[in-house]
Amino acid sequence: MTDKELVQRALEMRNFSYAPYSHFAVGAALLCEDGTVFTGCNVENAAYGSTICAERTALVKAVSEGRTTGWTTLAIAGSGADFCWPCGACRQMLYEFAPQLRVLAVNEHGQFQQASLSELLPMGFGPSSLK
Ligand SMILES: [Zn+2]
Repeated sequence: MTDKELVQRALEMRNFSYAPYSHFAVGAALLCEDGTVFTGCNVENAAYGSTICAERTALVKAVSEGRTTGWTTLAIAGSGADFCWPCGACRQMLYEFAPQLRVLAVNEHGQFQQASLSELLPMGFGPSSLK
């Protein structure tokens, strides 16, 4: 799957976003090395703190289906002209499973920038920190 195709999946996932409070639809698509893609959207809640981001939805779907390794690229598509980078909580959750993950931050026009998760969360705290 090309970056452009993964970006398109993330953009499409915005259609499932439940964002009645922020009105900021986000979609995510997580590509694994065998070609499997786990998708997600943001799901807000009246108790704001219970909200989950699109990329953490995709992460939880992957882990809950037994896929905790082999993640290669994550595309995150927001709304607006700005590139949609993951929030701090998502960076931390992703770091647990894929510190070298490629992240594609997408805007609503399908343009994107890329960075590695280790660039987005330098000197992160992960499983090896507990040894
Ligand atoms: Zn987040």
